[in-house]
Amino acid sequence: MFKPRHMPKEGVYADLRDAAYFKKSPLFSIEKDAIQIQLFYDDFETANPLGSKKGIHKLGAIYFTLRNFPPIFNSSLINIHLGALFHAQDIKRYGFNLILEPLVSDLKVLETEGLKVPRLKDVIHGTIVQVTGDNLGLHGLFGFVESFGARYCCRFCLLEKDCFQTVFCEDDPKVVLRTIEMHKLHCQTLQTDPTLPHIYGVKRICLLNSLQYFNTANNFSVDIMHDILEGVAQFEVKLVLQYIKENFLNAEQLAGRIHAFDYGYNQQRNRPPRVKLFDGSNDLGLNAIQSWCLLRNMPLLFGDLIQSDDQHWHLLLLLLHIVNIVFSPVLTEGMTIYLKHLIIDHHQLFKQLFPAINLLPKHHFMIHYPRNIKNIGPVLHMWCMRYEAKHNFLRSN
Ligand SMILES: [Zn+2]
Repeated sequence: MFKPRHMPKEGVYADLRDAAYFKKSPLFSIEKDAIQIQLFYDDFETANPLGSKKGIHKLGAIYFTLRNFPPIFNSSLINIHLGALFHAQDIKRYGFNLILEPLVSDLKVLETEGLKVPRLKDVIHGTIVQVTGDNLGLHGLFGFVESFGARYCCRFCLLEKDCFQTVFCEDDPKVVLRTIEMHKLHCQTLQTDPTLPHIYGVKRICLLNSLQYFNTANNFSVDIMHDILEGVAQFEVKLVLQYIKENFLNAEQLAGRIHAFDYGYNQQRNRPPRVKLFDGSNDLGLNAIQSWCLLRNMPLLFGDLIQSDDQHWHLLLLLLHIVNIVFSPVLTEGMTIYLKHLIIDHHQLFKQLFPAINLLPKHHFMIHYPRNIKNIGPVLHMWCMRYEAKHNFLRSN
């Protein structure tokens, strides 16, 4: 199963191997069997998160999967391995780099000396192919600012936060993408003046960048579970539900429709419970899978009430188109271009309908999705959902 058997088709992205980053990598493009390590980082509470011990028993964990195996095997929990486990407090005490040291020194051996594997005649090398995690986790690990209210809070570009409300495409000249050279320069500036809290959102040097074949500037993985399902989707479905409540239904009727709807046998467990509509928050109080279930069923739940030229409804349909593409396991080159335009149209319409409401930083991260997919293939294979399932297992044991 380790040996590549998948037949790439021109212009079709089904896996990492089909995408630009892999094809350009000095290791993976040459050594076809090189070990593709995908890391996932997260932290979690082992004690009661509401109790007085909060924070003390917080653990950080780095898991890994081998992307050489087909995606279907990588969603199985037995193929997600624990790479490192540490006290989250130690991150503050010693910094991430000290925690990463043993892992990075192993990876350096794998990069230079490689491994002898039974049944394969050549020594195989390997390295990190991508690092996944939620936005906050990745920013911490890579040495970026950990506040999304900061002026430079995007790990992909240098766009200032104020421009998130007006710039909706990477092609815009205001969007300057981070590169390895630029990142090096930012780190050097930090070294020459340690009093700087950060430079363009870079807080410190990341030890992962001492690897030969991996650099954080080439990490394209995005967190669709938190960006979309727990972020943008709930934020916007909430606005659309509020609109429906103001124009078409009373609160009881609206809740009744969501409650009584037949979500089908497979989706029954994921049905959304009572949603929070007027609590002033940015979400509906749903978990990722409930949010996905509600979003996909919105047209069947409320479509009968809406006129075909309704712009609020159009916004929801644009989001559904975007979600269908972003969550697809196979994509074409054409779809990435279509996605780029859907995101522009969607964000523009949002600002037109809600000029007083700010788009979230997560809306901004979406403008990078089309290029990220071109670089690493379908981002569904990167997402946190399965790792978090493994995590829950560890947490409860
Ligand atoms: Zn950006």
